Amino acid sequence: LGLDKLDFAVLCSLALAVLAYFSKSKIQELLSSDDAIKVNSDSRDVVQVLRENNKNYLVLYGSQTGTAEDYAKKFGKEMAAKFSLNVMCADVENYDLENLNDLPSNVIVSLFISTYGEGDFPDGAIPFEDFLTARESGDLSNVKYTLFGLGNSTYEFFNGAAKRVEKYMNEAGATRVGPFGEADDGAGTTDEDFLTWKDSVMEELKDQLGLDEHEQVFEPSFEYKQISQGVSNEISLGEPTAQYMPNNKIEFSPEGKQVGPFDATHPYVAPITATRELFSSGDRNCIHAEFDLSGSNIKYTTGDHLAIWPSNPDEKIAKFLECFDLDADTVFSLVPRDSTVKLPFPVPTTIGAAVRHYLEITGPVSRQFIASLVQFAPKEDLKVELTELSRDRDFFAKEVTVKYLDLADALLHISHGAKWGSVPWNFLVESVPRLQPRYYSISSSSLTEKQVVHVTAVVENFPNPSLDDHQPVTGVTTNLLRNLQLAQNKEDIQKTTLPVHFSLEGPRGLFKGYKLPVHVRRSTFRLPSNTNTPVIMIGPGTGVAPFRGFVRERVKLLEKQPNTTLGKHLLFYGSRNTSDFLYQEEWPDYSKKLGDSFEMIVAHSRLENKSKVYVQDKLIERKDEIYDLVKNKGAFIYVCGDAKGMAQSVHAAFVKILSEGSEISTDDATAILKAMKPGGRYQEDVW
Ligand code: FAD
Repeated sequence: LGLDKLDFAVLCSLALAVLAYFSKSKIQELLSSDDAIKVNSDSRDVVQVLRENNKNYLVLYGSQTGTAEDYAKKFGKEMAAKFSLNVMCADVENYDLENLNDLPSNVIVSLFISTYGEGDFPDGAIPFEDFLTARESGDLSNVKYTLFGLGNSTYEFFNGAAKRVEKYMNEAGATRVGPFGEADDGAGTTDEDFLTWKDSVMEELKDQLGLDEHEQVFEPSFEYKQISQGVSNEISLGEPTAQYMPNNKIEFSPEGKQVGPFDATHPYVAPITATRELFSSGDRNCIHAEFDLSGSNIKYTTGDHLAIWPSNPDEKIAKFLECFDLDADTVFSLVPRDSTVKLPFPVPTTIGAAVRHYLEITGPVSRQFIASLVQFAPKEDLKVELTELSRDRDFFAKEVTVKYLDLADALLHISHGAKWGSVPWNFLVESVPRLQPRYYSISSSSLTEKQVVHVTAVVENFPNPSLDDHQPVTGVTTNLLRNLQLAQNKEDIQKTTLPVHFSLEGPRGLFKGYKLPVHVRRSTFRLPSNTNTPVIMIGPGTGVAPFRGFVRERVKLLEKQPNTTLGKHLLFYGSRNTSDFLYQEEWPDYSKKLGDSFEMIVAHSRLENKSKVYVQDKLIERKDEIYDLVKNKGAFIYVCGDAKGMAQSVHAAFVKILSEGSEISTDDATAILKAMKPGGRYQEDVW
């Protein structure tokens, strides 16, 4: 052809450029937004989308912290795996339900609704509540539904949102199939409540829909693609959202700060400007951390919550990868099989990044998960063992739950250390829940620290009684904060003293210089606007966090407006002894500045040679004064901290104080406290 050397070189480079272009565009084609709430279909009409995608079962959830979503997805997956149904699983937030009554007659809708705060719907499900309340009798007469509520019986309005769904659906003429399920996180039985409900509802559904049950067969919702090319800018290395990927430049303000809006779907990577250990006592630690939100446009108000997006510790990641015989460097992508399925996190990514940043690999393992693994058991005897564990609640509790095993621990325990490489990675991606942000009551005041948010977190470690060396059962976020605090303060602590270790640099160094992704969640925990109103705060342990914020708020107010008059502010605080007394050095200063309007009453439950005293005991000690403040002076009551024991004991103390003071029955006193809640006179921030 008579090509000279130059022509040949030009042709070669052209060919290379075309190749590079195509492999890049192929990756870009695979690279999709991680926006888990984005609806790909143009339509928001749930019935239209269901029909367009040939779905024959509908699961809808309203979730605040991800638990209802997790159970809804588990349920949907099992319906698909056992009955070969084409299930559409969606957040109520993302669809219009106006035409719900036009669902095809053979389609049943399963509702999973969590309750938040004072019997409220999750934030994203408020339009769903509005939709339901606007229905008139008969409006939903064609709808058949199942209902599972996720709640906590230590709260007064246990499963309040789900109960209201039941009421509204009923009034609108819809027909419930199977029992109304209620999970109780307060009793720690969510998983078992779900399993009991699910078994009975599935029997009912089998009858009503004429379903044939077969052994579970995993029905992938995504087309899984392994990518042979190495890591490039298009591959997520664990960025919290696609906006943080190198090629998706996020906007920066003139001061070089990221521009939002930042919210629960797009966190701000906040610099942590200071951390300190508030106490270290035996195996207990508590960390104070300060997150700088300046330039982010995020606003917070005293009493709000900060959500921290964690990542998993090295040890747990290594065990998970080993258990499933996974290669951390493998690059993969997921392509939704239809428009009703949302990507769980930014892809393409590596297996290592997904396990570190996106999957909840620690924490208790559920019996249902074990059941879904039967199909992948590497050997017959393990299949039998898994089947037995998944069917026998007591056997499962004895072998897994009381040993505090997470998924990898449990499987390696069952197989005596043999790997589970037969479990497909795409099954794990679709079945292991997404790593969730953890919430913290903000312990600063927006009046004092406008742009800086303080949190007070007790490190969650407790010795595992089933292990010979009692190695601790560890919490993810709080151990991450502790690692960060030690590194930031360059403390000379031998690495071996920490039960788990974390990579603090983040994907592509995004968290370098001590940063973590966060978002702020609004709460209703607010001081009364009238400063003369007396305030009674009860917050033992880290429950004191928002009250530190409240007190700092009042101190600042007096500094700015010295003529302000303050009602009585009583803070009931409790700790085990004096060594775990939080912010011990700060309170005298606040007292000095607030004068007679502030008093801190402290209860210690583990002082040597002294009997145990709790905050509720201190309330009773001061019963006459408390009664007067509540009954005659309109005091606002705030309770923060442990939902199980403390909040109930404190409530009981108030019932006693009111019933004795007014000489009324405890039922009447309870009713008075209940009536105080809607007006914000009895507020709880408990967990
Ligand atoms: P996680 O990883 O979530 O683990 C939770 C617990 O499970 C830990 O105790 C862990 O040890 C245990 N665990 C781990 N593996 C297993 C297993 N296999 N079996 C059984 N158990 C296991 N906390 C504060 O300290 N301060 C606050 O101000 C505060 N405010 C809050 C406000 C709100 C509105 C809410 C909802 C919660 C608040 N919390 C607060 C609690 C906080 O959100 C976290 O739940 C807590 O810090 C634990 O998070 P973690 O990631 O460290 O533990």
